[in-house]
Amino acid sequence: MSATAAGKLDINVSETQLLADLERLGRIGLGADGGITRRALSNEDAEARSYVAERMRAAGLDVRHDEVGNLRARRPARDGATWNTRSNVVMTGSHLDSVPSGGKLDGPLGVVGAVCAVEALNAAGVQTERPIELVVFVGEEGSRFKRGTIGSAALSGHVAVADVLALVDPDGVIYRNAMATYGDSGAAIPARVERGSVHAFVELHVEQGGVLESSGTDIGAVTTIAGLVQHMVTFHGDANHAGATPMHLRRDALLAAAQWALGIERAAREVGGGAVGTVGKLTVEPGGKNIIPGRVDAICDLRAPTPELLTALAGFVISSLHGIGEQRGVEIEQQLLQRVEPGPMHELAIAAVERAAAAAGLSSLRMPSGAIHDALHVAEVAPASMIFVPSIGGKSHCPTEATQPRDLVRGVDVLARTLAILANE
Ligand SMILES: [Zn+2]
Repeated sequence: MSATAAGKLDINVSETQLLADLERLGRIGLGADGGITRRALSNEDAEARSYVAERMRAAGLDVRHDEVGNLRARRPARDGATWNTRSNVVMTGSHLDSVPSGGKLDGPLGVVGAVCAVEALNAAGVQTERPIELVVFVGEEGSRFKRGTIGSAALSGHVAVADVLALVDPDGVIYRNAMATYGDSGAAIPARVERGSVHAFVELHVEQGGVLESSGTDIGAVTTIAGLVQHMVTFHGDANHAGATPMHLRRDALLAAAQWALGIERAAREVGGGAVGTVGKLTVEPGGKNIIPGRVDAICDLRAPTPELLTALAGFVISSLHGIGEQRGVEIEQQLLQRVEPGPMHELAIAAVERAAAAAGLSSLRMPSGAIHDALHVAEVAPASMIFVPSIGGKSHCPTEATQPRDLVRGVDVLARTLAILANE
């Protein structure tokens, strides 16, 4: 089959199966508020993973696990080769762990969606020149160990396997020991893939924003994953009586923090190009209703699609602190918590997603991803892109995260066609 013939594929995704899979996973770790809590390597995570492993086997995949606990499953190429193959592999996958009380689509769609996509290829009798590998990445959300995107960072070599295995959670549990919940038997395959051994990677995911819905577009073809800078800033003012202290004698730490936060909003708008800035965490001390705030700890989260924009935004946010401190008589300390570089996606994979959407009769839009995904790390070693489907109301990381069933099916349809294109070109 030629790449162009991919457009003529008879792809029929089973909506019943896809919704049943998502519904089944949506019961694992379900809380009273309707949110899902599945921390990496927890019993809930393990239960979801073993359900998916069974589904993968039923779809005819050869299922393995790697040194850091990523689940790795392959569909053979036309010549029957799976792991010992001369041609490089086409990969897809996502994660099963969640934020505390998260939604049921963030991660699982790209996992069971991949299984359903393989089943659609099987049903359509599609054979490919390259094997197709499905990956369930461990610990994408970072809600248990100190870092997120653990499995994909190990796969790309961004983080050494030994460093992953030595991670410790807040309860003192070491990653290496926590992996026992998975109950894997048999030898693990290496986590790391060599550059050149993966032809392309594509991840199906909910958009988690409102761009597709508001523009009436079916599919997003992701062109870049925004980078991130987080700073912790402490404002030291003077706690005092809220009634007895005249306004001109105050050193109010919260007002300094508020002025800074408003400046971040202004800076992000001025920098433009998709740059965004948020102060989502403030701790006000002493925290009394009749006490002038004496100390505020604040964390800002800055994101932008290019290193230049990210540096410009972060530069403004830090340089503004000096003037605010002088003006308000407040001492300010700041510390860089982390900087993650933006991850450009690759034209090979982006174009394949666009072609697949067109072949499925769907509209598509090239767009950046504001959120970080496993594709960020895989892109370090292979051409990568992502397929976004619309999020209702742009909601995610909360129990109300949802996507129309029709759009879920369309995403899987486009994934199946994208895999067929990439695995046959
Ligand atoms: Zn996700």
